[in-house]
Order: sequence, then structure tokens, then C-alpha cells
Amino acid sequence: MFLSVSTAAGPFDNKELLAALSDITRLRDNSPAQAYEEACAWLTQVRSLGDSTLVAFGLLTVGRCAQALGRIDEWLDWSGLAAALAEQTDDPDLLRDALIELASATSHMGFPGEALPLFERALVLATDNHDPDLLAHLKTKTASALALLGRLEDAQTLHLDAIELVRDPNLALRLRLVVVGFHCDDMLRPEEAEYHLKAFERMTAIPSLSPRLQAWYLCLQTVVHAINGRPQAMLDSEAALRPMAAYNMNFYCWTLRIVADTLLSMGDANGARTRVNELLQIDLVLESVERVRLLLLRAKLAQRDNQSAEASELTKQAYALARPSAGTQDKLEAKVILTMLQNLESRLQLARSQVEARQLRLEIAKREALLQDREVPIPSLLKELYVLHAQQRSGFQVADMAEIGFHVAYQPYLGLQDLRVVGCEALLRLHHPRHGAMLPGEFIHRLERAGDIMDVGLWVVQQGCQHLAQWPSPGGVPLTLAINVSATQLESSEFAHKVAELLDRYGIAPGRLELEINESFALRESETPQAGLHALQSLGVKLSIDDFGAGHCNFARLIELDSDKVKLDRSLVRKAEQSQREFRGVQSLVRTCLDMGMAVCAEGVETLGQARAMHAIGCSALQGYWVGRPESPQHIAAVLARPAQVWAALLELDTPTKPSADRDHLQTL
Ligand code: C2E
Ligand code: MG
Ligand code: MG
Repeated sequence: MFLSVSTAAGPFDNKELLAALSDITRLRDNSPAQAYEEACAWLTQVRSLGDSTLVAFGLLTVGRCAQALGRIDEWLDWSGLAAALAEQTDDPDLLRDALIELASATSHMGFPGEALPLFERALVLATDNHDPDLLAHLKTKTASALALLGRLEDAQTLHLDAIELVRDPNLALRLRLVVVGFHCDDMLRPEEAEYHLKAFERMTAIPSLSPRLQAWYLCLQTVVHAINGRPQAMLDSEAALRPMAAYNMNFYCWTLRIVADTLLSMGDANGARTRVNELLQIDLVLESVERVRLLLLRAKLAQRDNQSAEASELTKQAYALARPSAGTQDKLEAKVILTMLQNLESRLQLARSQVEARQLRLEIAKREALLQDREVPIPSLLKELYVLHAQQRSGFQVADMAEIGFHVAYQPYLGLQDLRVVGCEALLRLHHPRHGAMLPGEFIHRLERAGDIMDVGLWVVQQGCQHLAQWPSPGGVPLTLAINVSATQLESSEFAHKVAELLDRYGIAPGRLELEINESFALRESETPQAGLHALQSLGVKLSIDDFGAGHCNFARLIELDSDKVKLDRSLVRKAEQSQREFRGVQSLVRTCLDMGMAVCAEGVETLGQARAMHAIGCSALQGYWVGRPESPQHIAAVLARPAQVWAALLELDTPTKPSADRDHLQTL
């Protein structure tokens, strides 16, 4: 598998967590249901650490376990979330793995056209990597999508490439099976399927395979016998397969349906009926092409029993499902398009150039048009949560957001002037009834797209003001509260009016509220909604540029925005530790911002070394796990009350004052 441990060993070099992840992956082969449970538990654990890279790994693993259980829908959901999150990390290997997974799920749902560009993008990311096994795996998958799109020649060439490339003997085995499956599908090339199955058998001793691989092999063997017209051999393989069914539910269902089809064509209606009934009871894989085939098979059986009305009803259902413009197929397609949309939107947030951004916007518009054509409204996460929690929604109701699973965590930031916590950033959290605890990277874009971010964002401001009013003022100076806002919240002055009402209701001076807008939106002129921003600034609310330095630095725009603060992206905080040159680069950026009259808060400070480097550079404040993790409002009291002497000792400073020179620090680099 390609969940490369090297990628996961990033900032969290946590051997135990990674070992547990490998155990889960091994477990998936033998006991997929247990692996699924454990993967969910692992995901919950890493979510509490708040590290996006690890969470994306967790999402991928849960998705793969769902796939092993035949829950294709869930597989698509989890891998969609993983890909959206991976877009936001700076880890190309992770993004590649997530794209492969999402593409595979999409293809499996019956949408090779949507899967192909994802595979192709993953191929580009993998080519840089030069890992022949990975390339081979990916080429095989891309070839399968091409074959499903009818581009058989291209598919064949890519398959041959893949088989020549592969080095790892286990992967070689799996690729042979993928190729067999691809030739079996739609029964187009029975001889080729036979040829590759024989090649597989020559490569290995079947009984020594893992149960999952053995089950897969038996499925394919059964199907190859079926499509080559060997009924007895087919039934023998099917009998051997039955005890192993649970190891590969998708393939088992596919096999069972082909066996039933073959039996019916041989006149064994009872044999076919038994298998169809079993499939109906399994209730899996039914939202895919297989469902159409199963319906048609049931129709044939009904016809045989002279139940023409039922046969015609079943046929109608099958065509409705298969026809692209029909109801259920629409819903399926909408779901796939939507997952793609979410991923495009994450990419848009990270777009490095105007050209790329324009291209992505075109793609988004195209897909939104596709959804509109089908008259499928873009589903709102908020609505989904209301339904799942059986709540009625009546306008903006403050309490409801907590009832449907949202809560706010607060992360403190340490002022370096006086060495005390000067404020907290509110970070939204969601406990989804199906997906468990989710980080903002996994759901904010959905709230933004459906327009729900307005209501949820105001609720965050309300919660923040309520808590801020209750917190003590260490050293007599009132704390500030930082709140993240999305560009859509600033499109009109409505948000500013509501914020003014809330500040008034809780008796909070506007200067204590800081609104953080992400650099990628703030510093692109055409995209910053001016009206809402000006209305907020004229209230006296402070403006802060989040993730500053991550890729869109535009000083002209920065001057124009008149922001009060920049939050130095954590990638720069890490860089500053690496060499004197990088330290000086970050230092000059910080100095320029300070000279422009802005405060500079270093984000993502995780170690004492980083804290000292940022202190030496002259940052105004520090935020990150080293200062404190995001916590519930009840749990941050201790860090708020920590006196300057303690912070000075933690920072290993002689006196709790602002640094005057950075020479000492530079010498230690
Ligand atoms: P996070 O809590 O996962 O939040 C991720 C991003 O979601 C935030 O990035 C912010 O852009 C957005 N977000 C969060 N809440 C809201 C909201 O109410 N409304 C809107 N519109 N957007 C929201 P940001 O602001 O840069 O937050 C810092 C992130 O870095 C947080 O992740 C935090 O948990 C994480 N973090 C903090 N300290 C450290 C650290 O030392 N190391 C690492 N690796 N991560 C850290
Ligand atoms: Mg922020
Ligand atoms: Mg940030």
C-alpha cells in the first residue's frame, strides 16, 4: 500500500501512532470490520492532536477499510475529505495518495470520466517521485479508467508500461489481478482475462496469499471460468470463495451476480434466484453499475416466472438508474460532482497564480452548471446536520449550532512585550454524527459553498464574545479575541452590523476583536470584498492577515488593506530554524511588517527552539502548541493566568523583556 510512512513522519514523528496505523492496515486484510473500527478510533485520536497531515492519513485509512467492507459511498466520502485536507497541507505524497484513493472510489461509483483527471494529476505528482512501483500501480488504475471510457488502446499501452515497471513482487501480484479484473469487466475479453489469470497463478502459491488477496483471486477465477463457459469449474471456485466472502465484499457481490447471470443463461433459475436473494440481503454495492445489472437480472427472473408486471417495473427501475438524466443516477452523479467541487475549491484556496485560479474557477463553474442542469441543489452541511440531529431549523438560532455538533476551541497567543497571554483565537470544531470529530479543513469549504458560513460564522462570534466577557484580564489588560472569517462573510455589510450588535450585547470594546482573513483571499485585490471589510474596520474592529507568507505576499495590497496584524505562516516559522540565511529572510520580512506598523504573531510554534527564534527575530506574539493547544473555554484558564516569570523561564530568558539583539540566537544556529 502507498500510505508512505515517510510522509506521516512529519512534524509528529510519533512512532506509536504510526505503528498503530500499520497494524490497522495489516488487520484490514484479515478482519476488515475490526480494522474499520480501529481506524475510526485512530482518526479520533489524531484529530485531537489537530495535525492535518495525520488526520488526512486517518481519513484515507478509514476510507480504505470502508472500501474493504464494500461501503463504496463511504469510501468516496472519506477519500473526498482526505483529498480536500491534503490539498491544504504542503505534502505532495499525501496529496497524491489521497487523489489515487478519491479517483479509485469515483471510478468504482461508475464515473470514470471524473476519475481520469484525478488519476492523471496523481500521475504527475508521482512522476516527480520516481518510484517505479507507485507509477506502475497508478498507471494500472488510470488504464482501468481509460478502458471504462472506451479508450482501449490507450489503456492497453498503459497496462503494459505498468507491468514492465513494477519491482515489488507483492505489487506485481496485485497488478496482475487488477488486469484480470479489467479484462473480465463487461466480459469483453475472456481470453485476455484467462491469460493474465494463468500468469498470476504461475507467479505465486495461492494458499500462501493473504486471505484478502486469496478472496480476490478466487472471485476472479470464478468469473474467468464463467465468462469462458466452464460452469462446473465456476461453481467449484465459487464454493471455495464462499468462506472468504467477507474479505472482499465488493468483489464477492460482483462475482455472485455474474454466477447468477451465468446460471440463468444455462436455465438454472433456482441457482440464480438463490444468489440474487443473497445479494439483496447483503445490501451492499447497490449504488453502482452493479445495481443496474442486478435489477436487470431480477427482471429476467421475474419474466421467467411469468410475472410480466414485476419484470417491466424492475426493467424500468434499471433504466432509470442507468440513464444519465434519471433520478437516482442524478443523485449519484451529483454526489461525485460535489466531491470534485469540494476538491477544486480547496485547490482554488491554494492557487499560486491568477491563471491557475481562473482555470479552477472555470472548472468549478462547469461543475456547478452540471449540478444545476440536474436540478440538484448543492446540499448544505448545515441541513445535513439538522436532519441527522432531527432538529427543525428556523432562521438563525444561536443555540442550535451547539445542538447539531459545533463547538469552539480557543488557542492562546503569548504577547512577547510583557510575556503574558494577550488573547485567544477561536477555532471552530464539529462533531459529525457519521464522520466523528472533524477539523475545519474538512468542512469550512462546504459551509462556504452553501452560504452557511454566514450563520455559523456569526455563531462563532457570539460564542467568542460570550466567553471573552467571562475571562479574567491578566495584568489588568483585557484579552483580545481573534476570529477567522471567510471571504463570503465580507461580501456585504450585513456581517458587520450583526458583529456590532453582538459586541454591544456583551459589552466588548470593538478593538478587542480581531478578524483574521486568509492571506490567499486578502492579498488578491479582485477577491477581497471591500464593503464588509470597510464596515468592520470603521467599527474599530482589528484586521489580521492569516497564514502570511504562505504564498501570496503582495506588499502593495498589504499597505492598501491597512491591517493591524499579520500572522506569520508556520512554514516560515519552521524555515527560520533551518539556516542563518533563512533566519535572516524571515527576520527581514518580520521587520518590514513591524516597520509598516503591524504586529506580527508567529503561528504554529511547536518547540522551544522555534519560540526562541521568533522571540529573537522580534515577533510581537507567539501562537502554537508550544504556547498552548486549542482547548475548550473551561480549560484555558491555567494558561491565561501563567505569570511573566514562568514564561520567561520556559523561554529560558534571563529577564522577561523584549529582545534587543538577535546575535546570541544567530550564533546558536
Ligand atoms: P484548525 O483548527 O484545523 O483550523 C484550520 C483553519 O480553519 C484555520 O486556520 C482557519 O483558517 C479555519 N477556521 C477555523 N475556524 C474557523 C471559523 O470559525 N471560521 C472560518 N471561516 N474559518 C475557520 P488558522 O486560522 O491558520 O488556524 C491555525 C490552525 O493551526 C488551527 O487549525 C490550529 O489548530 C493549528 N495549529 C495551532 N498551533 C499549531 C501548531 O503548533 N502546530 C500545528 N501543526 N498546527 C497548529
Ligand atoms: Mg486563523
Ligand atoms: Mg493561520
